[in-house]
Amino acid sequence: MSDQATDTFARSLRGKLIRPTDSDYEDARALYNGMIDKRPRLIARCVNVADVIAAVAFAREEGMLLAIRGGGHNGPGLGSVDDGLVIDLSLMKSVRVDPRTQTVRVDPGCTSGDVDHATHAFGLAVPFGIVSTTGVAGLTLGGGTGYLTRQHGLTIDNLLEVDVVLADGRFVTASETEHPDLFWALRGGGGNFGVVTSFKFQAHPVKMVFAGPIFWEATDAPSVMRTYRDFLPNAPEELGMFIGLKTVPPMDPFPREHWGKRACAVIGAYNGSAAEGEKVLAPLLKEVPPPAFNWMSTIPFPAMNGLFDPFFPKGLQWYWKGDYVKSLPDEAIETHIAQAANAPSNLSLMHLYPIDGAVHRVAKDATAWNARDATFSMVIAGIDSDPNQADALKRWGRGYWNAVHPFNLGGAYVNFMMDDEADGRLQASYGDNFGRLALVKAQYDPTNLFRVNQNIEPALA
Ligand SMILES: Cc1cc2nc3c(=O)[nH]c(=O)nc-3n(C[C@H](O)[C@H](O)[C@H](O)COP(=O)(O)OP(=O)(O)OC[C@H]3O[C@@H](n4cnc5c(N)ncnc54)[C@H](O)[C@@H]3O)c2cc1C
Repeated sequence: MSDQATDTFARSLRGKLIRPTDSDYEDARALYNGMIDKRPRLIARCVNVADVIAAVAFAREEGMLLAIRGGGHNGPGLGSVDDGLVIDLSLMKSVRVDPRTQTVRVDPGCTSGDVDHATHAFGLAVPFGIVSTTGVAGLTLGGGTGYLTRQHGLTIDNLLEVDVVLADGRFVTASETEHPDLFWALRGGGGNFGVVTSFKFQAHPVKMVFAGPIFWEATDAPSVMRTYRDFLPNAPEELGMFIGLKTVPPMDPFPREHWGKRACAVIGAYNGSAAEGEKVLAPLLKEVPPPAFNWMSTIPFPAMNGLFDPFFPKGLQWYWKGDYVKSLPDEAIETHIAQAANAPSNLSLMHLYPIDGAVHRVAKDATAWNARDATFSMVIAGIDSDPNQADALKRWGRGYWNAVHPFNLGGAYVNFMMDDEADGRLQASYGDNFGRLALVKAQYDPTNLFRVNQNIEPALA
């Protein structure tokens, strides 16, 4: 790659091309996960579709590794690449709500908080995740689970249309009627098929929710986990509530007597009034010991989505392991509790996100995301601010996962994987859809230009 070619590329952009010698390079290359330290050769901060087309063409013609960065939250840092070109979409942040159709157009650099902020003004929301700083792009293309999933499905179940720059430079719109095969693959297949430059979502009426965390002491965890498991399938779908094994943060406003203690928590949002929400939760609460604290209250939906933000600033060390879970027998619960007790830090956690309700009403082959018959998506995350803890986080995450995996399904949510999964994990995660994904990949990206991702190789001709 000559300096001249790079200069010509830089001049072709409305956005900025950042090089290792630039003063903003260190900041621009930093990822959400502080455990990942990648040094791209170039970072193209795109501001429009023309910039993206130019960047894809440059990478293709120069034979460079190419990464696509939306929110930069990906666990193994797949929004960046060593010695390659990063298409950084973080400046493309427009959101346009159409209140008549209750649809939302979202640029690829938006975080879920950006979209929540825009839709909340209209009393609407799109189902995204549980941390507002997460990028919409990567979350959506992997599937997307959050508080509204039981009621309205995965994020991809609310995706109506996308604009995409393909590997050969073409710009296409994909939907159920245009390039339906590409649209099918993008709903779960990640960044394998092109650079998405615009998302159109169906939003839903959501404004104030009865929401928050309820914490119990670790000794109550067996009872709470068993009761939650049995309660959830009969709970109304307006209740989106996950369960976790965590540590009470040693800070205000948490009750001082619980600081730093292991705990079991349910965290959720009921999309309705407090009076209804209390009634809905009553069968759960009457079966379990009194909680250490119950902070369910009526709050704006974006506040709920931002609840975790202060605990998880950019730059912490993260090690992720996931699995889809079909059932949670008592023996699995015991194993979870024993493993969680050895967490190497206060922030480390295990969460089980419900996969039921509206998600189960979509056919397994309707989108690339295949785990429609799972009951939970599990994540184990070793998290700490100290880089010296990285090995301990990995050791704990792997050990915990090894202990519980025999109870779980073969695959996992691709957005809860690092880059150290065993062979066959991706196939297991996509199940019967894997073969079709490889065929669509062969059609739209036959040379595997987009391979910095949970990679699906093109099917052989
Ligand atoms: C604190 C935290 C909380 C989370 N909570 C949830 C949750 O509640 N629910 C959930 O489902 N997930 C959750 N996740 C996982 C999240 O979905 C993934 O980390 C996801 O990859 C983040 O997307 P991003 O755009 O921020 O990532 P990036 O690192 O920017 O991108 C990740 C990958 O997505 C692809 N990509 C990004 N933008 C584009 C684009 N425009 N076109 C094509 N491909 C693209 C690329 O392949 C890239 O490698 C969470 C992650 C974190 C760190």
